[in-house]
Amino acid sequence: MHDRNVTRPRVVVLGAGFAGLELCTSLAEELGDRLVVTLIDQAEAFVFGFSKLDVMFGRETAAAVRLPYSDFSKRGVTFKRETVVAIDPVTRRVTTNAGIHEADVLVIALGADYDASSTPGLALGENEFYTVAGASRLRDELATFSRGHAVVGVCGAPYKCPPAPSECALMLHDHLVKRGVRNDCRITLVNPLPSPVPPSPDTSRALIAAFAERGIDYLPSRRVATVNSERKAVLLDDGRELPCDLFLGVPRHCSPRVVVAAGLTDDKGWVTVDPPTLRTPHAGVYAIGDLANTGAPKAGVFAEGTARTVAANLVAMSRDREPTARYPGAGSCYIEFGGNRVARVDVDFFSGPKPTGTFQEPTLALVADKKNFGSSRRARWFGSS
Ligand SMILES: Cc1cc2nc3c(=O)[nH]c(=O)nc-3n(C[C@H](O)[C@H](O)[C@H](O)COP(=O)(O)OP(=O)(O)OC[C@H]3O[C@@H](n4cnc5c(N)ncnc54)[C@H](O)[C@@H]3O)c2cc1C
Repeated sequence: MHDRNVTRPRVVVLGAGFAGLELCTSLAEELGDRLVVTLIDQAEAFVFGFSKLDVMFGRETAAAVRLPYSDFSKRGVTFKRETVVAIDPVTRRVTTNAGIHEADVLVIALGADYDASSTPGLALGENEFYTVAGASRLRDELATFSRGHAVVGVCGAPYKCPPAPSECALMLHDHLVKRGVRNDCRITLVNPLPSPVPPSPDTSRALIAAFAERGIDYLPSRRVATVNSERKAVLLDDGRELPCDLFLGVPRHCSPRVVVAAGLTDDKGWVTVDPPTLRTPHAGVYAIGDLANTGAPKAGVFAEGTARTVAANLVAMSRDREPTARYPGAGSCYIEFGGNRVARVDVDFFSGPKPTGTFQEPTLALVADKKNFGSSRRARWFGSS
């Protein structure tokens, strides 16, 4: 990389989500203004994924979970609120709605997008809980939902945070119990994964037992193909129809269109990387977080791991050292079990011949650990707890 007194290397980071925020924070900590880092995001604020469940079930307001980028202040990093409209990975030139950014190192961290159009009847901001708008809208619906069949339905895999639909079903049960209407409501969870948390049979067993105890119907290895609100039904991919008075959906995920247009995606639609280093086939171009096809799940804790790996290697290179950091593909996920208990699963995708997961039973103590997971990132990135 360039000598600081000649020209400082320009690092352009696209996307200020879990991955982009962690990358820029790590670079600022280690190198400060020895780099010129530009962080670009179209949004005004960051929101943790799990906050959407908190909003939907009325634990938090949508305003309270917003972390405005105006509070993100790191030495050597400039945040620009712009929309990326084109990426040239060969020249490392990025076009936004406000102009052109040239990079010596380009890091693409634009996350996973939602493809609602592939599921007729699914509408972003209406009957899904993967956007803040959708979670807010469903919170209002849940306030009056007192009778009938609620379907928590996943419309395609892979999707972010594999345990989230299970958490949603368990939290929905508690919500309906609290409102005194659970006996008049049925809950079904439809999920294309073969088990709730495939790398961890213990976690899956515990979740399936929790569904059974609460009378939640669970349909694995199935996805919702169509939502028909007029008929009050959902159609599954095997042709079966379920009655549905309230749909809480997880949209099919895809790479952002601008990334696909840049020719960066593979036949599965995700960005081709060398998983240990997150390098793309283009010199000086990395992809981190949910859009990178590493083989590990799409989750914040994994996005953060990819960011830390790339940061460590950029720091090493700027100090003329070998970039030896390798992405471990391991991390811990907290799982809301209802009844104000949180469980934890430590998953490891790369160490052994197949992914493994170690389960910790739901406890009150893990509620505090999960809180700390969020508040420590919030403090690290935005300087507040
Ligand atoms: C309901 C739910 C619960 C979850 N629970 C957990 C959990 O408990 N633990 C966990 O680890 N993970 C959880 N996740 C997953 C987690 O939120 C994501 O995996 C994580 O945010 C991915 O990080 P990322 O940086 O790759 O993408 P993101 O955080 O999605 O960031 C991508 C950024 O790119 C920006 N962007 C996209 N396109 C453009 C463009 N064209 N121009 C400019 N900016 C653009 C977006 O505005 C966004 O800020 C959950 C997710 C959901 C939805």
